[in-house]
Amino acid sequence: MKTTSCPCGSGLPFARCCAPLLAGERAANTAEALMRSRYTAFARRDAAYLQRTWHDSTRPAALDLEEDPAPKWIGLQILAHEHTGADRARVEFVARYRVGGRARRLHENSRFVRERGHWYYIDGDIDEGTAGPIEGERRQ
Ligand SMILES: [Zn+2]
Repeated sequence: MKTTSCPCGSGLPFARCCAPLLAGERAANTAEALMRSRYTAFARRDAAYLQRTWHDSTRPAALDLEEDPAPKWIGLQILAHEHTGADRARVEFVARYRVGGRARRLHENSRFVRERGHWYYIDGDIDEGTAGPIEGERRQ
């Protein structure tokens, strides 16, 4: 049986990467690991996990991942990961997705906080300037 590689692009099998995090069996060791698992949760439409890893000060009351047309998440690239305090971190990433036959990219600078040993997503600045189509994928 072919092992499924993790949607987050780590190169590891899903079962040994984000799966234990989504299942609540293991906590993310770093903000980057949490970011990766949240990307995987978006790709798998796991709204419950996204809510669980969202800091309660910024967490939306409800999360609707049933968009139409539904985005297909096709890749994650971590550009930067740095600690901005003892329990604070910043992760910059580009997530690529396809919606309605068009490839798009989301460039975000996300803020994370660690509380009682668990990392949470707070919010992020989205760089709209780079939210265009991916080079080389303009023609479909
Ligand atoms: Zn993963």
